[in-house]
Amino acid sequence: MSCWAVIVAAGRGDRAGLGVNKVFFPLRGRSVLGRCLDAIEGSARFDGAVVVLSEADEARFAELQRAEGPYGIVKRIVRGGKTRRDSVCNGLLALPREAAFVAIHDAARPFVSKNIIDATLDSAIKSGSGVISTPVVDTIKQVGQDGRVSSLDRNALRAVQTPQCFDCQLILKAHLRAREDGLSVTDDAMLFEHYYGDVTLVTTDDAAENIKLTTKKDFEAMEKPVVPEVRVGQGYDAHRLAEGRRLVLCGVEIPHDRGLDGHSDADVAVHALMDALLGALALGDIGRHFPDTDPKYKGADSMKLLEAVMAMVTERGFRVGNADITIVAQKPKLAGYMAQMKANIARGLNVDEDRVNVKATTTEHMGFEGEELGISSTAAVIICKQA
Ligand code: MG
Repeated sequence: MSCWAVIVAAGRGDRAGLGVNKVFFPLRGRSVLGRCLDAIEGSARFDGAVVVLSEADEARFAELQRAEGPYGIVKRIVRGGKTRRDSVCNGLLALPREAAFVAIHDAARPFVSKNIIDATLDSAIKSGSGVISTPVVDTIKQVGQDGRVSSLDRNALRAVQTPQCFDCQLILKAHLRAREDGLSVTDDAMLFEHYYGDVTLVTTDDAAENIKLTTKKDFEAMEKPVVPEVRVGQGYDAHRLAEGRRLVLCGVEIPHDRGLDGHSDADVAVHALMDALLGALALGDIGRHFPDTDPKYKGADSMKLLEAVMAMVTERGFRVGNADITIVAQKPKLAGYMAQMKANIARGLNVDEDRVNVKATTTEHMGFEGEELGISSTAAVIICKQA
């Protein structure tokens, strides 16, 4: 069954104040019309497209095809009419005889997805029509001729976009009658309703992104670079070595004659990492979130505290880019435990192991670490959020 698209680009389109019909304007390096045709072709649902252009824009389209094209999906170009309704009618009249279903689409909606095309076209195949729509988020007021304002029930309202898909014969017949009747409509669904009593609306999860570019502001907003928010954090901690304590580093218990002293398990490396994460979030330090005066944290497993810090990271929309931890200890030798430490931290940060580095150094017997009075650790992290 043959499906075709009629792409309506015949409007003057200069409300955007860009000096040219907005559909020829570049949007992140490709014209709006070019993007629209890419979407139509990329959906793999259409045998061809008819593009409706004003006389003035035909030469511009030829120029655009040379610069960006060729647009293989475009099989015919037809001249627009006085009104949008006339333009669409001209497009429908140019469809080949075998066309069974048609998607009528405004070129000023270049973000139409395959999902939307599938939903509307499948609806047309099933019921004769399929029009993409979204729930209305604003409350809509109706202003009467006398200036009196009344409210409409938002739950009963839908905002309608394109594509609007139809059985070709039905929509063509309706358009030809409308041309005779001089019926004034703002979209094809309205015309279909008028002659057939009803039209099928469909919606998709991504319908809200199928925006119509109208004003210069719309273009400017689109051109803004999409930069993820990236933050860096660093942390430092040190604990004293004491008899009768376990030595826990990055959640791994390491056999040693002494362990680190502290209110929790005194996992100095995880403490430095948590401080780095809190630093990146600008949320102070672990002393503020897990005070050592709180009996709740006595002997606490620091990996559990890391979970709580990671919840703060994800609640704010961030994920970890990478982490780098350095443990400063004269003894014991940590090389044999590195793989397990790295795996623990990667799991705790919810990232792949290739985003985590754990390393250890001695201080050649200098300072408190070198004299085996204690162990210290530093950590650095990057966290990122999609814009
Ligand atoms: Mg500490």
